[in-house]
Amino acid sequence: MERAERIKKIPPYLFAQIDKKIAELKSKGIDVISLGIGDPDLPTPPNIVEAMKKAVEVKEYHRYPDYEGSLEFREAVSTYYKNRFNVSLDPRSEVMALIGSKEGIAHIFLAFVNPGDYVLIPDPAYPVYKTAAIFAGGIPYTMPLLEENNFLPDFSKIDEEILKKAKLMFLCYPNNPTGAVASEEFFMEAIELAKKYDIILCHDSAYAEITYDGYKAPSILSFPGAKDIAVEFGSLSKPYRMTGWRIGYAVGNSEIIQGLGIVKTNVDSGQFTAIQKAGIEALLGPQDSIKEMNDIFKKRRDLVVNTLREIGIDVKSPKATFYIWVKVPEGYSSSSFAEKLIEQAAVVVTPGSAYGEYGEGYVRISLTTPDHRLMEAMERIKKISF
Ligand SMILES: *Cc1c(COP(=O)(O)O)cnc(C)c1O
Repeated sequence: MERAERIKKIPPYLFAQIDKKIAELKSKGIDVISLGIGDPDLPTPPNIVEAMKKAVEVKEYHRYPDYEGSLEFREAVSTYYKNRFNVSLDPRSEVMALIGSKEGIAHIFLAFVNPGDYVLIPDPAYPVYKTAAIFAGGIPYTMPLLEENNFLPDFSKIDEEILKKAKLMFLCYPNNPTGAVASEEFFMEAIELAKKYDIILCHDSAYAEITYDGYKAPSILSFPGAKDIAVEFGSLSKPYRMTGWRIGYAVGNSEIIQGLGIVKTNVDSGQFTAIQKAGIEALLGPQDSIKEMNDIFKKRRDLVVNTLREIGIDVKSPKATFYIWVKVPEGYSSSSFAEKLIEQAAVVVTPGSAYGEYGEGYVRISLTTPDHRLMEAMERIKKISF
């Protein structure tokens, strides 16, 4: 069966390959520890599960939901933005519910990118930005995230002709996979650039709540002028451990939200209202579970960072996200290092090259594995000689 050009252009989804490797080792009876995928091991907080249990009994919710999300859910997002970021949002025009933020991230390109339009994509990055750009017929233009620039794109390196032609730019801070955070100056610079060249600025804020050492991540919408050109994609998956529930939102510029809505009304029919009810409880209910989770991740972060330093691998301790971005030792590539860890320790990490060409030379370690397993993984890694 001949596949469409647009999917022939997509590199194989890396986690599928890793899952295959894990299955292969497991079938040989080997105890594999995966530090590959970023999916919190802790369950969804009980108050959210309870809200869902109640909502699932409500017969009106069994019918088609509102496309754009229930007004109550959009109001909850708006209230959360006011409380958390001091950003005012009109729940009717500046908030839209998503079936997980990935859904909106993928669909925004269809709403605004024509075949041949340039889109500015960071590298390394969450792979969806680039694949969604290709699906829309856009031309992904790589903005390298280099360690020497603290993993922020250097806008001065982008050709002016490209900036003039660019339709959309994606950013993500706190950043997956590098764990980097962006300064206020950087956000303001990005907004200024987007306004100057009339570029739709999309900010992925999936990790805004996963922070340590007193760091508080801002919303891009809290900076002056952002709402003229920007939208932010938020996710309930990571802060509330709801990856399986599929609920997120887009907020910001109303014209951009409206465009996204046109794609969505023709592709999906919104998220189950009961799940939105659970999302309201997550956003407006007690927030203690976030701090409790971050305390656990912080201990794991310190364990991994200290172990790597002990064996002579220099690594920065991230202020946010549940990832450690590790430069591989001399003489290794991303994948040869990851392979060595699988073969000699049965520990799975993600090769940085999976996130783009500038991820080469790094691996990503995820902290979303129970403490005792992570400790075991670190003990195994300590025994390897590099
Ligand atoms: C996990 C993740 C998402 C997707 O989250 P969902 O809301 O579960 O779709 C988006 N962006 C980044 C960078 C992520 O790591």
